Amino acid sequence: MTREEVKDKKRIVIKIGSSSLVHPETGLLNLPKLEILAREVSDLRNRGKEVVIVSSGAIAVGRASMGIKVCRSLKEKQACAAIGQVMLMGIYQKFFAEYGQTVAQILMDKKTVTDTESRRHARNTFNELFELGAVPIVNENDTVATYDIEFGDNDRLSAVVVALIKADLLILLSDIDGLYSDDPRSNPNARFIPEVKELDGHFMEMAKGSTGSDFGTGGMATKLIAGEIASGAGAEMIIANADDFHIIHRLIDGEELGTIFRANPREEFALIDYLEKM
Ligand code: GLU
Repeated sequence: MTREEVKDKKRIVIKIGSSSLVHPETGLLNLPKLEILAREVSDLRNRGKEVVIVSSGAIAVGRASMGIKVCRSLKEKQACAAIGQVMLMGIYQKFFAEYGQTVAQILMDKKTVTDTESRRHARNTFNELFELGAVPIVNENDTVATYDIEFGDNDRLSAVVVALIKADLLILLSDIDGLYSDDPRSNPNARFIPEVKELDGHFMEMAKGSTGSDFGTGGMATKLIAGEIASGAGAEMIIANADDFHIIHRLIDGEELGTIFRANPREEFALIDYLEKM
């Protein structure tokens, strides 16, 4: 199987981490980057793809705009998410409108998928949005999610969305080029791994203990859990660097960038089993 096959993917979920959306110095939105993101995704729509964005950044942006360095309580964090989420969506709406695209906001928590009835409704809403030609932008419903019902990080959430809507590709854009044999920030001998055919325990062990940036929550371990879900659900996953969002069309054109995790669809795959383990 070659990267050329990525070209044929039809339903694509793209996850963007908080650190890839904000200026590291201030935590405020990096507008030129977001503009490129909107352009790239709009072009995927023009190519006839169905695209979902899973965007983090609500808490980071809310925090920065209120001048809060570190949230001291859960309620402060949730209030920051409430403020940041509308800011984010306002910007997405503006930039996507410039390319003639309509965006739609979907906020989910774990219950949305564990409850049979709400799972069905969520799936129907996504499908209807695709029919309408809108671009769903998903985040966790951070303002009301509590410990019990939270996904905790958008890596897993994006894979859950892939399984829910039967997407065929998940792209995780983050501050790292892909999977390495060790953390390249601390080990200069870490080896880059361009392809993972089967995600076994050996890879999971390798990613253990890897942490996220100051702005997001996911490290490599959560990305591999996302890979397990996506692959089991029958989708390919690519982890790639979000430094330059032009990478989106390069990936879809089949360029060998980032790490690709091959799909290993399992007959008995049940999303619910994974959610219970989370
Ligand atoms: N849902 C969180 C936010 O929008 C981010 C979670 C994550 O970093 O994965 O701020």
